[in-house]
Amino acid sequence: MAGSKETLICSMCGHIDDKKTPVVKVLDGLNLCTECISFIDDTRDSQLALRKGEKSKGKASKKTSIPKPKEIKEFLDQYVVGQEEAKKYLSVAVYNHYKRINSQDDKDDVDIEKSNIILVGPTGTGKTLLAKTIARLLDVPFTIVDATVLTEAGYVGEDIESLLTRLLQACDYDVERAEKGIVFIDEIDKIARKSDNPSITRDVSGEGVQQGLLKLLEGSTVLVPPNGGRKHPEQKLIAVDTKNILFICGGAFDGIERKIASRLNTHTVGFGQDGKEAKKKRENLMQFVMPQDLKSFGLIPEIIGRLPVLTSLEPLDKEALLKILTEPKNAITRQYEKLFAMDGVDLKFDESALNKIADKAIEYKLGARGLRSIVETIMVDAMYEMPSKKEKMFVIDADYVEKQLDKAHFHRMEG
Ligand code: ADP
Repeated sequence: MAGSKETLICSMCGHIDDKKTPVVKVLDGLNLCTECISFIDDTRDSQLALRKGEKSKGKASKKTSIPKPKEIKEFLDQYVVGQEEAKKYLSVAVYNHYKRINSQDDKDDVDIEKSNIILVGPTGTGKTLLAKTIARLLDVPFTIVDATVLTEAGYVGEDIESLLTRLLQACDYDVERAEKGIVFIDEIDKIARKSDNPSITRDVSGEGVQQGLLKLLEGSTVLVPPNGGRKHPEQKLIAVDTKNILFICGGAFDGIERKIASRLNTHTVGFGQDGKEAKKKRENLMQFVMPQDLKSFGLIPEIIGRLPVLTSLEPLDKEALLKILTEPKNAITRQYEKLFAMDGVDLKFDESALNKIADKAIEYKLGARGLRSIVETIMVDAMYEMPSKKEKMFVIDADYVEKQLDKAHFHRMEG
């Protein structure tokens, strides 16, 4: 009948409007029954939940997708020259760290214990660089702290717990994330006991600090001052469980070669043999470092026990220095070439220049650390003048290196 109310039919299921399941007009030409509406609602909810789940799973898997030890090492290779052994140990330790984090929800009783690491090697050989490079790759909070600022509670300096402040800061005080982070403690050798004799009276910078550090390495809940420094009564402290925090320690352990040599001389047959190989080995005694040498040096056995992965870094020879100058992704000469290219200048370091720079670094016992300061010294004039010059090519040779270093009296490089 004309004018009578239009009978609504569900566009989805064909249901005709009735009291039990009414059909409503959603849009012009689109009618839906209440059953279909709730079906759509449910579908929407479950699809959204699924997508959200996938997203967070995606995020989680990105976060915890484990780079294989070989991949970690390949990444390190791009930035750090040589140090094959240390890279291998670090790669495995970091890989295991990820695996441990991933396996936390497993219901079995096998707990994978963390293997904190200690890197021993002369200063300027890449310990910090390794740690920093690892940090780039990682998706866990990471921080580098200096052991020398620490003193045992009650003395001037920073409380040991403040080591974790920076880790907390690195992840915006997300305690759960910090508890799975990595801390690089530099200059661990500086908190060695001054004497191997345990009966000596406690020294502030030595054993007391080591005892404090032990607590962190072992895994315990510690109260961390959120802003570092000393604990103040009015400061609200943050509880952090260190059980899953991976600690990587580094130190030059100056003079440890003597401890190694005396141990080797008494225990190793044939160490006194002649030949090139034996001579080379004698030169790099550090590679034979064992936990007992760390003890002789003044680390307490408990600390050594908590740093089960011990590896050494080699001193860098000229060949390594030359590689460091040119090969890593962010090698210093590449950085300068890029800077000059921005001004349209083609900068080249010829071979004689590279050799001279490496020789100077060795001569002044600056190691790799000195390469940057040497290059910076020789480049100052060119950096100043080239942007205003018409020449579009600039070649650095040995003479130029020598001239610029003489001009700067080189005194700035020392100390
Ligand atoms: P340390 O062993 O004292 O921690 P660093 O890692 O701080 O030494 O090294 C100082 C600088 O020397 C680094 O920033 C880097 O430029 C350079 N360097 C040292 N070792 C290497 C290396 N093996 N490969 C590349 N560069 C290196």
